[in-house]
Amino acid sequence: MIYASRLYISGEIKCDECGRPIPYPDRYLAVDEKDGKEDDEGETKRYCVECCLKKGYAHYKEEKGEKILTFF
Ligand SMILES: [Zn+2]
Repeated sequence: MIYASRLYISGEIKCDECGRPIPYPDRYLAVDEKDGKEDDEGETKRYCVECCLKKGYAHYKEEKGEKILTFF
């Protein structure tokens, strides 16, 4: 299960990949992962947009000359 752009109001969120704090209300992805793969039984990991792009969880697509970030 992938939860895109879920926002938490309190508490600092850190990216589980690069360790960078994810500033509210920045976007990040929470994904259940086991052994580096998406798995509902796994641990919940949070990734910043940059790491989502690196891991292939997020993509930029061009629409009407604008870059739109999509998660899946
Ligand atoms: Zn990151």
